[in-house]
Amino acid sequence: MEDEDFDIRSQQPRESEKDIEKALRPLAFDDFSGQDKIISNLRVFVEAARLRGEALDHTLLHGPPGLGKTTLSNIVANELGVGFKVTSGPVLDKPGDLAGILMSLEAHDVLFIDEIHRLHPIVEEYLYSAMEDYRIDILLDKGPGAKSVQLTLQPFTLIGATTRSGLLTAPLRARFGINCHLEYYDHEVLKRIVKRSAALLRTGISDEAAQEIALRSRGTPRISNSLLRRVRDFAMVKGNGFIDIDISRHALEALNIDRYGLDEIDNRILLTIIDKFKGGPVGLTTIATALGEDSGTLEEVYEPFLIKEGFLKRTPRGREATDLAYTHLKRRRPNMPDSLFD
Ligand code: ADP
Repeated sequence: MEDEDFDIRSQQPRESEKDIEKALRPLAFDDFSGQDKIISNLRVFVEAARLRGEALDHTLLHGPPGLGKTTLSNIVANELGVGFKVTSGPVLDKPGDLAGILMSLEAHDVLFIDEIHRLHPIVEEYLYSAMEDYRIDILLDKGPGAKSVQLTLQPFTLIGATTRSGLLTAPLRARFGINCHLEYYDHEVLKRIVKRSAALLRTGISDEAAQEIALRSRGTPRISNSLLRRVRDFAMVKGNGFIDIDISRHALEALNIDRYGLDEIDNRILLTIIDKFKGGPVGLTTIATALGEDSGTLEEVYEPFLIKEGFLKRTPRGREATDLAYTHLKRRRPNMPDSLFD
């Protein structure tokens, strides 16, 4: 029988995507690039909690997917020198699921709840007393005669992550003492991340090639790492294993990766504004309806990147596509000078 984790041709253990992602994950503040302000603040809060011998305050991390929320939570636990448990909002069906996890925590441990905006309301309410007083009520039995007992938990830190902070209820939001908003990464920082990941994968890469991958990563380290892995495949099969600018351009073209790192939804948003609404200005809900998307997701997950990279403008009368959006999508604005169109 063939061993699934062993590649017969290369006589090497087969790398699963998950293993690689794990291997590339920074484990300490010093390995984490970018988000400078958040990191310098967290260093202080972690150090203070350690000096006082207390649990770190509950922390909320919000921002689009793939920017390092899980990674950062893991780092905080490592830097505090405590245990780290992971779960996610949609997985916690009933209060009992949460109670089990809470009771398994040791003093000062970090509990990470991903997608915390998707917690069931009953579970969320249950979390309040756990966060505030480190206490939970456990219901014994069911029906009218049911009794409940109160249990005391070890002091712990909850780190909640969300891509949609707008959906968080006010009482939950109020229970977080530390609040951090992760921003999209600059190209220079992504380039550093690509080089670090290539070194960990023991793959040679030129400066230019790292830059090219960074430019096409939609400001997101998770995308940088996954593009790097795909380009590395091309370099191994079509070249000599080294990633230079030619092989990376070839691979990124073959993979149909947008020059500016925009994804399919980004392009659909811009095309909708240009083709259906003459480039805007047009209201966010009108765009969302035309796309069949949720307007909150457009506003919190998609729009910030398009605005940061200069494809979209927010005006008092609504959203407007910029000249860059027109040229990138090969559309011509009626009064656009010829010089802008190539
Ligand atoms: P999120 O939880 O925000 O969706 P993750 O923490 O899972 O994002 O990050 C996705 C991947 O990107 C991780 O595997 C990690 O290797 C990488 N990554 C994220 N942020 C950084 C960073 N600042 N420096 C280096 N690698 C990073």
